[in-house]
Amino acid sequence: MRAAVVRDFQRPIAVEDVPVPVIGRDEVLVKIETSGLCHTDIHAAHGEWPVKPSLPFIPGHEGVGIIERVGSEVTRVGVGDRVAVPWLGWACGACEHCASGWETLCLQQRNTGYSVDGGYAEYVKASADFVGLVPDAIDPLDAAPLTCAGVTTYKAVKVSGARSSDLVAVFGVGGLGHLALQYAKIAGATVVAVDVTDDKLQLAKELGAEFVVNAAQEDPVAVIQALGGADAAIGLAAAPKPFEQAYRSLRRGGRLVLVGLPAQNAMSLPIFETVLNGITVVGSIVGTRVDLAETFELHAQGRTKVVRETRRLEQAASAFEEVLSGSARARLVFDLR
Ligand SMILES: [Zn+2]
Ligand SMILES: [Zn+2]
Repeated sequence: MRAAVVRDFQRPIAVEDVPVPVIGRDEVLVKIETSGLCHTDIHAAHGEWPVKPSLPFIPGHEGVGIIERVGSEVTRVGVGDRVAVPWLGWACGACEHCASGWETLCLQQRNTGYSVDGGYAEYVKASADFVGLVPDAIDPLDAAPLTCAGVTTYKAVKVSGARSSDLVAVFGVGGLGHLALQYAKIAGATVVAVDVTDDKLQLAKELGAEFVVNAAQEDPVAVIQALGGADAAIGLAAAPKPFEQAYRSLRRGGRLVLVGLPAQNAMSLPIFETVLNGITVVGSIVGTRVDLAETFELHAQGRTKVVRETRRLEQAASAFEEVLSGSARARLVFDLR
């Protein structure tokens, strides 16, 4: 099969021929139709995080396709089903985290496209219990970004506790942010979107944001505090400064949700104001299988819009460059059909 393989953290990812994976008794073989590009794939391919993938490996945790083969013990899904293969490739199901509805925190979890091969390939093998069923009403090109960007921001809005009377600030209107603001709208909140490019802010308005702030031209903290301060702020940007601005845009009792993973792994946090203002700072990592099913359900109902562009798998290396240079205007999705 064709697959985009990382053999060296210093060399560009390249498409090559590799064997089709052999499935185990509790696994399925998925013929990939579409596969989204998440920034995490680039971090993985460059070995930028403290725990690095072991080489060689196939990235991709937004793979969507049709099950072609099932292991002898598989009953939950069957041949012909369209499924998504998310970042949470497997969790133990028995530990304290799994048993309490936080399988995303399982210490034994396997991560697709990182600790096990992912969806930048014609075929991927996956745990039958952890693939997400994709409703027929969803275009596979939309399903791919929903598999990480969608579920991650859906969960972040849940974690934010956003309610109908709340003002929610979304910092960063990219592949994640354009979905985050839609989930905040679905929760009934009023949304203020912050970015540094006008076309992304225009998109935020079209998707329902009541207020937009260009942080390159005005101070988002002043603007949001003039609106009364945010009840919740969701940090999705790739630099520490927007996280610090998001913190300072909160009203008393507000909640900052950290989602983006800037390479500079720190932000300054004033203790005095956090204590006196009763601020909550919380991290949110992807979502559970239930969160993914709910994300798909909302999209199948026509309640969310995915902004994406397609590329061929052979363009993986140049697509990485597009994302890194900021020239990609939307989520990029490899179309393998
Ligand atoms: Zn991702
Ligand atoms: Zn577990």
